[in-house]
Amino acid sequence: YHEALPVPDSPDEIHDLGTEINQLLKSLNEQVLRDHQFVSDASHELRTPLTAIRGHISLINRRGEQHPEIIPKSLKFIDEESARMQTLVESLLRLSRMDHVTIERQPLDVNQVVQQTVENYQAEISQPLQLDLTAGPLMAMINLDSLQQILVALLTNANKYSPADQPVTLTTSRVNGHPTLAIADLGTGIDDDHKAKVFERFYRVDQARSQEIPGTGLGLAIVSRLVTLNHAQIAISDHQPHGAVFTLTLATK
Ligand code: ADP
Repeated sequence: YHEALPVPDSPDEIHDLGTEINQLLKSLNEQVLRDHQFVSDASHELRTPLTAIRGHISLINRRGEQHPEIIPKSLKFIDEESARMQTLVESLLRLSRMDHVTIERQPLDVNQVVQQTVENYQAEISQPLQLDLTAGPLMAMINLDSLQQILVALLTNANKYSPADQPVTLTTSRVNGHPTLAIADLGTGIDDDHKAKVFERFYRVDQARSQEIPGTGLGLAIVSRLVTLNHAQIAISDHQPHGAVFTLTLATK
């Protein structure tokens, strides 16, 4: 923690400089606090599967010989939990790398990127996906890799948080001159209280946890970072009769 400097109450450069330095110290303190919180949250998230893994190893050690039937079940558990840890660590690394990168944007046809991404992605999902794209190209200033990552993250969520037989709709349009992309699902949607919070690191709405839908709570934090890096914007609204709509507004320059 950095203490603020005493600033003389005089109308001169020393006063201005002191005030400026104190403002810098304040934002530095806030940054330190955020980093601290992040490390603490990340450790907590990693500790949970780690504790479970050690518990099962200890169980095998104590009872495996006399009750070999417990071994396959415990091993399966250890396998799942370690896979979860791996996903978590990979997402954390991805997020931390993004703190330092600058990305290159270029003029791209959003419709074309959507079509290519969906083609590659469709094999992984069972859910029907409806595309409703503008006629002709829809140009945006964007990084190709970022747009693909955002699309896959939003489609994966739409898929995870809505019933398997309900269609997901992907619409592109031009709103006030901006290329816009909306992904709508017919799931339970996201209550207003949670709409902003789901973009925070590790935040998951209780329902996702209680229904045991696998996830780390980092997907939308990564999306949010990519959106900022690409001078874009993202918002959540409600879908009728139920479900969530994620609307991505892209930059044209
Ligand atoms: P994860 O899916 O790994 O939990 P995300 O950061 O991608 O993490 O999402 C955070 C939370 O936002 C999810 O846990 C879920 O509660 C909520 N959420 C995200 N997308 C949707 C959606 N399409 N419908 C309903 N809830 C959603």
